[in-house]
This record gives sequence, C-alpha cells and structure tokens, in this order.
Amino acid sequence: MSLSLIWLLLPVAAASGWYVARREYQKTISESAANLPQDYFKGLNFILNEQPDKAIDIFMKLSELDESTFEIHLALGSLFRRRGEVDRAIRLHQGLVNKASLSTELHAQALYELACDYMGAGLLDRAEALCLELVDVDANNLAALNLLRDIYQQEKEWFRAIDLARKIAVCMNEPQSLLIAHYYCELALQARCKNDLAQANRMLGKAVQEDAACGRAIIIRAQIEQQLGNYDAAINSYQQLEKKAPEYLSEILGELKACYQAVGQKEKMIAYLRRIICDHHGVEVVLIAARMLNEYEGEDVALTFLSDEVNERPSLRGVQYLLELDLEQAKDERGYLAVVKSSLDKLLENKPVYRCSCCGFTGVDMHWCCPSCRTWSSIKPIHEFQWGASI
Ligand SMILES: [Zn+2]
Repeated sequence: MSLSLIWLLLPVAAASGWYVARREYQKTISESAANLPQDYFKGLNFILNEQPDKAIDIFMKLSELDESTFEIHLALGSLFRRRGEVDRAIRLHQGLVNKASLSTELHAQALYELACDYMGAGLLDRAEALCLELVDVDANNLAALNLLRDIYQQEKEWFRAIDLARKIAVCMNEPQSLLIAHYYCELALQARCKNDLAQANRMLGKAVQEDAACGRAIIIRAQIEQQLGNYDAAINSYQQLEKKAPEYLSEILGELKACYQAVGQKEKMIAYLRRIICDHHGVEVVLIAARMLNEYEGEDVALTFLSDEVNERPSLRGVQYLLELDLEQAKDERGYLAVVKSSLDKLLENKPVYRCSCCGFTGVDMHWCCPSCRTWSSIKPIHEFQWGASI
C-alpha cells in the first residue's frame, strides 16, 4: 500500500473507531438505565419538581443498592449539603448508613458523608465520633483524618490537630510543616494570653523547628520581647523577617519603629527603611517609609523620596499620599489637585489590602488562616496597587 493511501485511510479508521465506541457507550448507558428500579425515576422526578422530601422518602425505601445507585444517593446528599439543606443531607446519608446490605467500603463512604453533614451543621462532636470510628477501622483513611484535623482546628484543640497533621504527613508521604508550625503559633498565643511567656517561647521554638520560614512565629517572638521591654532582641527578631518571610515586612514596620524610638535610635530606623526599600518595593513599605521620613526629616525629604518611588513604580496609594503631602505643603485646599485627591480617597476607600492566593478572598484585615478556604499562610498583603493591576 502506498504511503499516500495510508494517509487517506487514517481519518476513515479514526471515524469508524469513534462510531463503534459511541455505539458501545450508548448500549451501556441504556442497559444501566434499564437496570435502575422504577422508583428511582419517580424520586428523580420529585427532585426536578422541587419536592426533595418526597424524593428522599422514595430513595430511603429502596431496598436494593448497587454501586451505581449508591453513587446517586451520595451525589444527591452532597448536593443538599452544598445548597445548605444539611437536614436533608443527614436524613439521606443516615438512611444509607442504616442499610445492612452495604459493603464495608460503601458503609465507610456513607459514614464519611454523614460526618461532613454534621460538620456543616456545626455538630462537631458527632462529626468527630464518626471520624474516629472510620479511623479505627482504617488508620490510613486520609479523608477521615483530614476531616478530624479540621474539626480539632475548629475546636482549637491544637495538640490533637498536630498529632493528626503528623499522621496525615506519614499517610501522604508529604510534610505538613507549615500547618504544624501555625498550630504551635496558636499554642504560643494561648500561653501568651495566660501570661505564660516561657511556654509561649517553647511553642514558638517548636514552630520554627517545623518551619524555619514561619513569619508568624518570628513576629510573635518579637512582640513578646517588645512586651518585656527587650527592645534590642525585638528589633533583631523583627528584622529576621527580611530574609525569612519578606512578604510580611509591611506588617511589622510600625512596631519596629516603636522599638527604635524606645531605644532612641530613630535614625537607624530610617537607615533600615532606606536599605530594605531597594529590595522590597511593596507599596505598603514605600508608604510607611514616606510617612516616617515626613515625621523625622520633614515634608521636602518625604516628597522627593515618594515622587521618585511613584515615578519608578506607579501606584494609586503612592499618588494619593503624594497629593496629600503636596497639598499640605501648598496649603491650598481649593485647587484642582484637591478635587483629584478627594476623588482618589473615595475610590480607594475600603479597597482590600490583603488577598488569599488560594481562593481570591480579599479583605482589609490580616488573617493567618483564610476565613473563606481555611488555607494557612495564603493571605498576603497586596503589594501591587498598580495601574491596571489591583485597581
Ligand atoms: Zn482562601
């Protein structure tokens, strides 16, 4: 056969393969549908007609459950849960759990779904009991281990959460250092609230042992030193952020300034800011530096610094402060610049300062654990308030 003929026949072969596969697929679908009990269609009809309780009654009365009908039950239950109809999800999954005919594996799946329902309903103790039952049967049930860790996290049972995170790490063969470090930070904060600073420092040591780049542990340790009046130690600790977790630098500059002021070394703060600004151009750092220059060295120095920065890396908040300084210096509140400044103030009012890199959640307050997706260390200060980017 000539090469050109082979090329001509290739599409024909592909089309016939697709046709046979399609026929087989249609046959399988129609066979599966034919095997479903008639009551299933009645149940589905009730769902389509917005009568979910009647549908649940029918599904629960069905005695025979195979893998495909079980999947339909699960899908329906999680649909109810996602829609916030947790009571219905619980009824459906409880009905599944009670079926004696289920295999061990399917029973475990139904139990897990029921635990998720209880979690969604805020019944953490019930969810915990079911997860413990699942882990008792299979110590490597990753879904149950994760849910249990989440429950302990919500209950602020940090030592238990750490144990679970370690088990998950073994199960997944993947370290959970970031998570465990945050749990130790939570323990440190609990100890600090009870004024047990020695215990707080022990917990922070463990956090840094788990994750050497844990910016949160570095910040808490510095805050404790500052609280004790050990300003040199506090300054040293705050400055570690520059290398370990520079994305949080803007969070500590105010406290660092207070420490330098306490030891009468404000010129060192200015020198520090001028040095870090070369490597960290986040708009927050630039604004803090400009405000400090304004306070320590006067408006002219602050204006020159800020106009250079804004010129090189345009940012709306930079322009906003530049206008504020310029208007203050000009002592003119009636000109066009004042109108521009006032409009900019309104545009930037309540604009988010932080964003979660996982789910996109934005806000004006810093959270170490995202309130939306519950990921740790995913919320960072928005550093790029630049034209066409964040605004
Ligand atoms: Zn998030």
